[in-house]
Amino acid sequence: MYHQPVLKNRRSLLERAEKFVSDIYFTDCNLRGRLYGESHPLESLSSIMSCKRITFSEAQTQNFSPYKVGDKFGPTWWTCWFKAALKIPSSWRGKEVHLLWESDGEAMVWRDGQAVQGLTKEGEKTSYILSDCLTEEEAANSVSVYVELACNGFFGAGQGSMIAAPDPNRNFSVQKAELVVFNRNVRELLTDFEMLIDIVKELGESEQRSFQALFTVNEMVNVSNPADPSSFTKARALAHKFFSQRNGQSQHTVHAMGHCHIDSAWLWPYEESIRKCGRSWVTAIRLMEKNPQFVFTCSQAQQFDWVKSWYPGLFSEIQHYVKTGQFVPVGGTWVEMDGNLPSGESMVRQFLEGQRYFEQEFGKRCKEFWLPDTFGYSAQLPQIMRGCGISNFLTQKLSWNLVNTFPHSTFFWEGLDGSQVLTHFPPGNSYEMMGKVQDLVKTVKQNKDKGRANHSAVLFGFGDGGGGPTQLMLDRLGRVRDTDGLPKVHMSSPDELFSQLWADSDLLCTWNGELFLELHNGTYTTQAQIKRGNRQCEALLHDIEVASSLALYQDKTFQYPAVELRKLWRLLLLNQFHDVIPGSCIEMVVEDALGYYEDINRTGAALLENSLSALVSKGNATAVFNSLPWERLEVLQIQEAPGKHGLALVRAPSIGVAAIQGTKPVTPVCVTVQADDSVLMENGIVRTVVNKDGTLTSLHLITANREAMTDDCSGNQFVIFDDVPLYWDAWDVMDYHLQTRKAVVDVLQPAHVLSSHELRGSVRFTLRISDKSTVTQEIVMDAMCPYIKFNTQVNWAESHKFLKVEFPVRVRSPNATYEIQFGHLQRPTHRNTSWDWARFEVWGHKWADLSEHNFGVALLNDCKYGYSVHKNTMTLSLLRAPKAPDANADMGTHRFTYAVMPHAGSFQDAGVIQCAYNLNFPLRLTPCFPETAPRSAFSVSPAGVILETVKQAEDRKGALVVRLYEAHGGGVMATLSSTLSVKEAWHCDLLEQIDTAQPAHVTADGITLNFSPFQVRSVLLVVDA
Ligand SMILES: [Zn+2]
Repeated sequence: MYHQPVLKNRRSLLERAEKFVSDIYFTDCNLRGRLYGESHPLESLSSIMSCKRITFSEAQTQNFSPYKVGDKFGPTWWTCWFKAALKIPSSWRGKEVHLLWESDGEAMVWRDGQAVQGLTKEGEKTSYILSDCLTEEEAANSVSVYVELACNGFFGAGQGSMIAAPDPNRNFSVQKAELVVFNRNVRELLTDFEMLIDIVKELGESEQRSFQALFTVNEMVNVSNPADPSSFTKARALAHKFFSQRNGQSQHTVHAMGHCHIDSAWLWPYEESIRKCGRSWVTAIRLMEKNPQFVFTCSQAQQFDWVKSWYPGLFSEIQHYVKTGQFVPVGGTWVEMDGNLPSGESMVRQFLEGQRYFEQEFGKRCKEFWLPDTFGYSAQLPQIMRGCGISNFLTQKLSWNLVNTFPHSTFFWEGLDGSQVLTHFPPGNSYEMMGKVQDLVKTVKQNKDKGRANHSAVLFGFGDGGGGPTQLMLDRLGRVRDTDGLPKVHMSSPDELFSQLWADSDLLCTWNGELFLELHNGTYTTQAQIKRGNRQCEALLHDIEVASSLALYQDKTFQYPAVELRKLWRLLLLNQFHDVIPGSCIEMVVEDALGYYEDINRTGAALLENSLSALVSKGNATAVFNSLPWERLEVLQIQEAPGKHGLALVRAPSIGVAAIQGTKPVTPVCVTVQADDSVLMENGIVRTVVNKDGTLTSLHLITANREAMTDDCSGNQFVIFDDVPLYWDAWDVMDYHLQTRKAVVDVLQPAHVLSSHELRGSVRFTLRISDKSTVTQEIVMDAMCPYIKFNTQVNWAESHKFLKVEFPVRVRSPNATYEIQFGHLQRPTHRNTSWDWARFEVWGHKWADLSEHNFGVALLNDCKYGYSVHKNTMTLSLLRAPKAPDANADMGTHRFTYAVMPHAGSFQDAGVIQCAYNLNFPLRLTPCFPETAPRSAFSVSPAGVILETVKQAEDRKGALVVRLYEAHGGGVMATLSSTLSVKEAWHCDLLEQIDTAQPAHVTADGITLNFSPFQVRSVLLVVDA
């Protein structure tokens, strides 16, 4: 130091440096003011508007009219195409020249018919590099580029706040469109300054390194003259000296990976996500060209498929950079799906479709599951991942827990069956970091496994709405690859990170069971129509696959509809995206999603009919098709004569068909109106008393002589809550809503007998929920059926209310059981600890059960996912009424069914699981010859093993894949029997890869399969036609 020593005033030194790079203060004389040199106007700028998302070639044919910078255009969701003619002044030879473009909305630059770069102010991308170093030739020619500008922001167009419903009338404008000289040397020096200033601030006064940075940066101001670029060399040398003072060997290593989280639909429709992918990914490719060390991780096969069809040129570039290892497809799934609500088979299909796509397009599968932004993770995921060739998992969402801090950053996650995956939560708690010093410092400080794991991920790049990394982020990280006081920064890939973590995993802890997110618990209920669409379509696709598989061996001309099924599955999987099935999306997305369910239902119904008619010969009788692996005896509504419907008690064989033959019930249903106008119904198994207001005063299990309802409370009690969360409206229901419970008691039409048939008794009533909403319900008791069904219709026009139904039962147990994917788990009914009471609203699939020794009650449903069981009250969540981001969420008419089933013994032995399947997979009817003999294709014993899936093998026509799981939670040896002529049977994984070392054991009785608790097994069957 050759001048006055610095005084001991940290603040003035720090602020001096800050002002030197400020973009607000002193830009007339500071370094920042020198970032751009001369500017030059465009030759011309013209535009056209389109309400549709048209292609480049369509846009090109339109008549463009002149556009003046500052002019307004719109409205929201439209697209404005600009044509810019430009000629670079020849005096700029040798300089770096940018097209500077500042506008609202999200833009894509097109040049020579190709998408070349994204531009968004929100994503800090406002310039398109026309030339790194202008040549004579470049200066001589006029150039025209197109800019496609979407009239929506990164986060849609929320009116007033990000998650508010979109403002349909927003105006947009371009604020700047000109040619500029970009002073790269100023940018580089600015980056040095910014990083050093951040080091001063982030390391703080307790670290001597912070002061070293402070004195360095102060000296850099001393030697820099913004007006004289030759002075920058000295300043840069000082910065370089600081940055290259190295760490010791023990320092933490940060694995920096570029990332761009793109929600497949959220505050914008699916179609806009396609363009978000295009804009973000082409920008990543441009960065790869300039930065060979840059690695970009990218998930969701669906998005790759979108880009393949919309941006074929970009897709070929991506394929190239996948080969070089810079563009890294991750995740292995079709979309980043919700981690709670999709069925077990849906989760398998997410991986099956995803991994097969990655294999087909890029020649490799993903080794890690990637789900940074999903609202909780099923305990069955580790087994599903393992079955799909995946042993690593990355997420971070549990950092959003409202009550408890999750204790690990790097750990083994053990699933329901004992499968383990190595799991990493980036300790910075973000998947959209900026490559700044604070990201690095946070990552080290917040690592919860200090001393156990010395490697962490930093995912950098704008995300959620797309955007991705910038050159500046790369430059920041490049400065501090190994700088004493900061973690080492390694440009890395998920593969490298996880290899490091595996290599040093001896001390890691294990977390067993689900990763429950203590927030967003309203997403089990919001947008009930989407949930219903999902559940019904899951059942429909299941049935089509079973029926088509059987038809293959019944009718030699039958073609398994593999292509159509793949299309339908992909639509269903797409709607399982983590802002669609949870109901956290805008109304436009809801409309698209419901439209996809309609497509699945329409096409699916035709496929099912087609396969059923191949299964039985058409005639004037009716056959019943049962897609479930057990015999069923159920009351069905049938057509007795044209226009005349009747009821029949029908027996249907396990996975098979039979002509309908009505049987007599052992005990007919008996319906009696009692003196107090309550209605008593019994069927020899259960007896119930329905009050005038539809509540049950009694639910008696006759066969065990046990009463299921408590003395002082009634079952089937509708209750309504105020439901005003703190911020995330569609997502969150807060614990305090429980204090606002009100019973729905206003009777509009008292319970009256609707049917007193010997096969079916039913009672109907209507309640007023409010002056805007009503609930009408038919309580149905069928002969021979162990559960009572509640067919419900709600006309719903509420605001911030939550409707549920309660069953206070005479059962005492510290835990309730909930069905999840391929199994079930228990959660507490008490609130001992914060971990217990944070689960005041939980998710389950088709059933939940509360049992004590030898007796219990199960609550079944056909399209609901939200439950709570507190003490002895079992509650099913029915409808919510959030107003953001969809102002009309859940308004209208809803139909759903739930059922209550008291049982003796355990829920396993009582057949609760099978009853819940029966409720969700209706027997299907099809015309047949009266002589059609009952046929069963498959059956399994014992009952604890469930044959979930029967489908044609992906890569082998004429072979079937069957998937079974152990549902009771106990190891067992099972036998799968089939009437098909099975030639060979092979164990395979969930991706249907045969284990040639493991032929399945085939005996005369069937295929013998060993199961451990909750194990899922797939078997490939080669069948003689
Ligand atoms: Zn997301």
